[in-house]
Parts: sequence; C-alpha cells; structure tokens
Amino acid sequence: MVGKDGLKADCPCRSPENEHMPLFQFNCKTHGVFEVLRNSLPKSERYKCPDCGKLSPYVWPLTVMRPDSLWAGHVVENHGYFTSESQLGKSMKKRKLTRIGDRIDAEGMKAMANAAAAARDAKFAEESREFMRRAVAERGLLDAFGNLKPEASAPLSDTPLISSNDDRLKVKP
Ligand SMILES: [Zn+2]
Repeated sequence: MVGKDGLKADCPCRSPENEHMPLFQFNCKTHGVFEVLRNSLPKSERYKCPDCGKLSPYVWPLTVMRPDSLWAGHVVENHGYFTSESQLGKSMKKRKLTRIGDRIDAEGMKAMANAAAAARDAKFAEESREFMRRAVAERGLLDAFGNLKPEASAPLSDTPLISSNDDRLKVKP
C-alpha cells in the first residue's frame, strides 16, 4: 500500500529518526543495486544484500565522482575553513578580492580580444590597400614605377560632393 506521499506504509523513510538519513546504494553481483537508509557509509563500504546476504560493494553516486578541489575541507589563510570552491569564492567576493585564477583568465581573454582586433585591423588595412591599388590602376593614374601620378591627387572639383548644405540633400516639401 502506498500513501499520499508515495511511500509504502512500512517504508523506513516514514520513521522520524530516518528523516535526514542519506540513502546508500550497493550493488549485489546477483541481485543488482539495492538501497539502504543509514546514518553513514559502513567502513567496509559493503552491505549485505537483502536477497542473498552477500556483502555487496557501495556504488558511488555520480554526483560525488568529481568533487571540487576543496571538497575535503581546507583552511584558507585569512578566510577560515571551507568545504567548497563556491564558499571560498563567496567569501573572497565579499572582501572584494580577485582570485588569481580569475585574473589570469581575464588577462587571457583580454589578450585574445586584442589579438583578434589587431588581426581584423590588419585585414581591413590590407583590403583597403588592395582596393585603392586596383581602383587607381584601372584609371591609369599610376606611373611606370607604380606611384601615383600628380593628377591622381588633384581634386576633381572645388565643390564638395557631400555637404550638409548641399541642395540635393534638402527634402522638398
Ligand atoms: Zn544478492
């Protein structure tokens, strides 16, 4: 029989002393994975299978397979005792401190951004030179040495093509 909370009437989860007990999983070679509510993991990291009584090894949950570097608890100078990276991060943020790793990352990002900007500028400059070289050469404005002839830099007209006072820009009513 299953109650409103989805638990069987005789489920050990119902007893109040089990309220905060962690669930441990063990794997019997014959009967597969079974779960046990306990205060702690047995020192042997084994538990008797409810079906055959064989001692079965503990199955480490995936959530604890990759603990962060402070998982075992470390005393960090001037910060106290921490059991996770995020705790230490919060404390450092509170004190307006930058973590060395973070600063290196920021500098790395900045260097990458600068390199990308330089590459983009160099490409634009090269494209501009190429465009000018072609445009000028097509108009026969280069001399035999590839230099601009004097007439190439002479203004075509004294009137600027575009000015805010240009009649052509005025909206007709
Ligand atoms: Zn078994």
